[in-house]
Amino acid sequence: MKISEILKQDKVTLSFEVFPPKKIDDYSKVEAAAKKIASLHPDFMSITYGAGGGTSQYTVDLARDLYQKYGTQVIAHLTCVSSTREHVLDMIQKCKDAGIENIMALRGDIPKDGLIAHDYQYASQLIQDIKAQGDFCIGGACYPEGHIECEHKKEDILHLKEKVDAGCDFLTTQMFFDNNIFYNFLYRIREAGIQVPVLAGIMPITNKKQLARSVQMSGTQVPERFKAIVDHFGDDPKAMEQAGIVYASEQIIDLIANGIRHIHVYSMNKPDVAARIQANLSEMIK
Ligand code: FAD
Repeated sequence: MKISEILKQDKVTLSFEVFPPKKIDDYSKVEAAAKKIASLHPDFMSITYGAGGGTSQYTVDLARDLYQKYGTQVIAHLTCVSSTREHVLDMIQKCKDAGIENIMALRGDIPKDGLIAHDYQYASQLIQDIKAQGDFCIGGACYPEGHIECEHKKEDILHLKEKVDAGCDFLTTQMFFDNNIFYNFLYRIREAGIQVPVLAGIMPITNKKQLARSVQMSGTQVPERFKAIVDHFGDDPKAMEQAGIVYASEQIIDLIANGIRHIHVYSMNKPDVAARIQANLSEMIK
């Protein structure tokens, strides 16, 4: 089923993200974690893609197994900046062969060693290629605080509009910890004429190191309220995990209360975290 169809249903949707293993030896462990998340019956699951090629080969395998073995609706991520066009077209064909109807089209981060295949510069070019290869539902990324490489938010939104016009059926946001930033972003993109559904991307921070890593990669702002939580509970793993789950759940409750209908949780192969967030929302998302 296409995710665009799921998003049209008159309900709040909850989806979870997992990442594939780096090596085949870890495949069954990752599949077992993903299967547990699938057993929570999210509206769909997304499977990330290693831009540098590291985990890329197992993305479609994991998406296929979740879809074919467990009946979960899936979206396979695909990045382009480090790949040749030939490789990208091969991945799209693999999705088609596996019956996967949804692809998250991403540029990918520029690798530190600067090794770029040069066939693609932006996600919008990948979207054009996916569209030409078949009848896929295509998702794209967006950044409520602006993409880290783009100096001006206004310009970033203009590029986002180009990306949507290239054929994005929906957008998923980068993580954010302050809902007001998301509400403001939504207002600005709607004003710019971007009308596709936007999924709010929520990252439950369950340990101190994860916060530092996530913030460094994304440039996401950490509100004082959350900084205080991490300062206070960061050295107690169980307390920090609980606090992170509660913080993410509260963010989601506020989003739903303000009319946001699509929530995407960066569940990071942690079935327990996904289950506890879902349990906190059970009466609000049925
Ligand atoms: P683009 O939309 O191409 O934008 C990249 C930059 O280029 C932006 O600054 C934009 O303003 C600028 N730009 C776009 N078009 C133009 C133009 N015509 N002229 C000038 N500038 C332009 N990474 C992975 O490696 N694997 C994943 O699975 C993955 N999943 C993700 C899922 C989500 C929901 C999000 C938010 C990010 C994900 N990422 C993933 C990270 C993503 O690959 C990086 O953030 C990357 O740096 C940008 O990708 P993009 O698709 O947003 O790029």
